[in-house]
Amino acid sequence: MSENPLQAIFRAFEQVSGSIQTHLSNFMGQPLHPDRIPGKPLFSVSSSSRANPSNIDSTSAQPKDILIKGKSAPVTKEDLGRATWTFLHTLAAQYPDNPTRQQKRDVKELMSILSRMYPCKECADHFQEILRANPVQAGSHTDFSQWLCHVHNVVNRSLGKPIFPCERVDARWGKLDCEQRECDVLGTTTTTSLNFLGQRR
Ligand code: FAD
Repeated sequence: MSENPLQAIFRAFEQVSGSIQTHLSNFMGQPLHPDRIPGKPLFSVSSSSRANPSNIDSTSAQPKDILIKGKSAPVTKEDLGRATWTFLHTLAAQYPDNPTRQQKRDVKELMSILSRMYPCKECADHFQEILRANPVQAGSHTDFSQWLCHVHNVVNRSLGKPIFPCERVDARWGKLDCEQRECDVLGTTTTTSLNFLGQRR
């Protein structure tokens, strides 16, 4: 039987997508994600999606089942780790030079909660040990970002990953580019809360 024309299009899309990933990884100097094979796309297109044109979202030209069911691209431990480190290092980049007492408490509590609720038991248990040996340093932006870099390196070392030079942490995780201090870490205070512009309410 002759091939459905959509199958050829999807095969071409997969090849281009795999090739872009490989080139981007080379360009950024970062290895491909350990769970990904060079040339293999980030997600695969199921054969039913290929065969069934009604399964295609015409706006993005991606199969609907990828967008809706999300089954084709489960979040791996590595994905979760990268996303979490991105959040934490970004928070550290925004953390003020002179945090309030409440901000210091909040950031310590956040780390403590993370070590209990991180949805990877092995990682959470390990992080609890790391926190016990390395209490959170939250006295200033530099204290917190250097401490975070250090504990990330403890995890890196245990996984056999390269150690990141912590003197370069501000260059790697620069402050967010936000107008009118919209990305400032405000936190809460014990007696009053602050509105978006940092005014008491
Ligand atoms: P990641 O380690 O995720 O780093 C992302 C990016 O951050 C890197 O590309 C680099 O540019 C930058 N970076 C790297 N090191 C530093 C640093 N020290 N300071 C600043 N920036 C840096 N996985 C496990 O298998 N076992 C575990 O026990 C485990 N524990 C974890 C505990 C926590 C709290 C978190 C958040 C993750 C944990 N992970 C664990 C996941 C693991 O740390 C990685 O996120 C995952 O393996 C993906 O690694 P990666 O090489 O893509 O880069």
